Amino acid sequence: MSDEPAAPTLALAQARARMLAGVMPIAERETLPLMQALGRVLAEPVTAQVDVPGHTNSAMDGFALRSADARGETSRLRLIGDSFAGHPFAGPVGPGECVRIMTGGVLPEGADAVVMQERTRREGDDVIVERPVDPGNSIRPAGEDLTRGQPVLDAGRRITPADMGMLASGGAAQVSVFRRPRVAFYSTGDELRPVGTPLKPGQIYDSNRYSLHALLSELGVELLDLGVVPDDPTALKTTLRRAAGECDAVVTSGGVSVGEADHVLDVLESVGDVGFWKVAMKPGKPLAFGRVDDALFFGLPGNPVSVVVTFLQLVRPALVRLAGSWPRPPLRMPARLAAPIRRNPGRLEFQRGRLAHDEAGATVAPLGHQGSGVLRSMSEADCFIVLPADCAELAAGDRVSVEPFAQPVWNGSADDWCEKE
Ligand code: AMP
Ligand code: MG
Repeated sequence: MSDEPAAPTLALAQARARMLAGVMPIAERETLPLMQALGRVLAEPVTAQVDVPGHTNSAMDGFALRSADARGETSRLRLIGDSFAGHPFAGPVGPGECVRIMTGGVLPEGADAVVMQERTRREGDDVIVERPVDPGNSIRPAGEDLTRGQPVLDAGRRITPADMGMLASGGAAQVSVFRRPRVAFYSTGDELRPVGTPLKPGQIYDSNRYSLHALLSELGVELLDLGVVPDDPTALKTTLRRAAGECDAVVTSGGVSVGEADHVLDVLESVGDVGFWKVAMKPGKPLAFGRVDDALFFGLPGNPVSVVVTFLQLVRPALVRLAGSWPRPPLRMPARLAAPIRRNPGRLEFQRGRLAHDEAGATVAPLGHQGSGVLRSMSEADCFIVLPADCAELAAGDRVSVEPFAQPVWNGSADDWCEKE
């Protein structure tokens, strides 16, 4: 018989929805020069100050002309000047005339098309156009990208590298963004020692704080590292109060189960409120979510793989919301298993896998040992293989659902780049 206290186990989707509903996004804002705004969340919509492009201009190096003059198979036009990017042609283009124009050069008055250089030849001061040219050919109309006064990006948008360029093109010298969330994190456990110190029997290095530091850093939040806290209710209480007092959210690992040394939940109950405590997922079933005063609390399990999986599945979306944006629902896609999977049905499971593709589409290889203490498989993975609760044995070639969680840019190998026959 287990003396586990009765607490409902929530389905992952339900847990995620409850968490998001319980998050009050940061309201304070600050104004930043655009150059400092990458990765920040817009607090106000940005509208374009100017049309982009500001003038109808050429998409090619060639000649600006009146298309009515170039209807025939070949046409002869008189060259009357240049329009280069930043140096427009002053006058109009009259009938039978053309202007040499470079990409980005303003389309001169009177002209309604550009013919690319490769379709022409020069004869003295004349240009011979060697094919008919349609109105609007090879030009970029003013305002094609942005029009003045029109919204460029909405509030709640996290600024990406491409957004930076788009905001600059629309004339946004500074932007109003939300204050970055401040997040405290610490590890709990009597067995934990900081790296760089010798280990006594039974002790292990505190690795979770490193994983959490990295996961939080990637989100762009401000961090408060509170180190390792022993399995002692008084110390845990003091640290939690301090963390919640100084930060908008607190993330811990360990001590959240029902063992003799697991005090995190009791401590949360005594200084704050428990929202929920168990989520039907593997790894990561014991997981406490709650609140201490105005701070969100996430008590993650101690197993190193569980920390990463629960962070990505639950904490990250909640922190995205806290930062003033909305998380995107995880992108799931089909893939064929490259090797069989054996498992006991019962809980929704996130196995670690590595994606590839062949002629028939995406394939996924489950990675070695899937124990929740085995970080190697997590480290090699670029996706989760999402196995529904009732799924048991799977054969190689079976279709599964995968959730990529890493941009597959880094950590390839030289073999990937050998020229294939
Ligand atoms: P717990 O959830 O506290 O029962 O811990 C579960 C397992 O994770 C135990 O084997 C712990 O030793 C291990 N563990 C807990 N915290 C950490 C940590 N910060 N770094 C590495 N392993 C940990
Ligand atoms: Mg522990």
